[in-house]
Amino acid sequence: MQVRTRFAPSPTGYMHIGNLRSALYTYLFAKKNGGKFILRIEDTDQEREVEGAVELIYSTLKKVGLNYDEGPDVGGDYGPYIQSQRRGIYKGYAEELVKKGAAYYCFCTAEELEAAHKAAQAKGETYKYDKHCLHLSPEEVDKKLKSGAPYVIRFNAPTQGETSFTDAVYGEITVENATLDDIVLLKSDGLPTYNFANVVDDHLMGITHVLRGNEYLSSTPKYNLIYDAFGWEKPAYVHLPPVMKDEKRKLSKRHGDPSFEDLLAEGFLKDAIVNYIALLGWNPGTNQEMFSLAELEQAFDWTGLSKSPAIFDMAKLTWFNAEY
Ligand code: GLU
Ligand code: ZN
Repeated sequence: MQVRTRFAPSPTGYMHIGNLRSALYTYLFAKKNGGKFILRIEDTDQEREVEGAVELIYSTLKKVGLNYDEGPDVGGDYGPYIQSQRRGIYKGYAEELVKKGAAYYCFCTAEELEAAHKAAQAKGETYKYDKHCLHLSPEEVDKKLKSGAPYVIRFNAPTQGETSFTDAVYGEITVENATLDDIVLLKSDGLPTYNFANVVDDHLMGITHVLRGNEYLSSTPKYNLIYDAFGWEKPAYVHLPPVMKDEKRKLSKRHGDPSFEDLLAEGFLKDAIVNYIALLGWNPGTNQEMFSLAELEQAFDWTGLSKSPAIFDMAKLTWFNAEY
């Protein structure tokens, strides 16, 4: 089996050190195993998109040397994949799930959903969509579609039993199906949600190992149910702990935490930054502390990944910089 990994950033701002670390580990995992590293721009949430963010992703990856393997500019026919250019693909797959009975059209308006949300809150319950539109007859659905009524497509999640998977870093994760909401797959603007697009694309792109932030750990069982509904083989999952700025706070784009570009501008050397980031949450299992990117490609092994959050420490980075 050829290993294929992907880095799938959303262009919602600059890349902070945590994002770059995910990209680095994803790249190293592919290279260590003689595999391919795919770049996919997840730009289906157009309200959150920040101008110039895509260009910054390309230029940062290039400067660091994390070159992706598929793309017209690197000799292949495909990639980097841009989700907003693939909308027909997601729509087709969402409709396939409707035909299979695993998903359904939902015509509930924002006001109706908001009211249901408030009612649940008032009762102190967690809101969950009540599957109202699952029970519409095919004739009713047809009529609404023909009338041009706005709709979304929702996944018909099971309500009984449990769903589990084994994560390479966090071990077995289980959710009670009764807690699952019928997530939206296709939005009323015709674009897929992240929840759906990541599954369709990881399948179509032949991704064998998904490395990403641990904020997706609890949603992964939902994604696995979508794989099952299609009858697709699931990838292996390697969820990564966050990079924190201190005990309590994660690094974030919103709070202006340092980007790779900021660090370069402050005079830190590229190789020192990459070396420091690699060791932020990964233990090489030896005493070696200084690695070039080429050495990391050989040495990287996911079993050295830590479950605990890493803290970004400027003093340590300064030390690495002085050693270079
Ligand atoms: N677009 C998601 C993000 O930027 C990526 C999550 C994933 O890798 O599946 O957080
Ligand atoms: Zn509905």
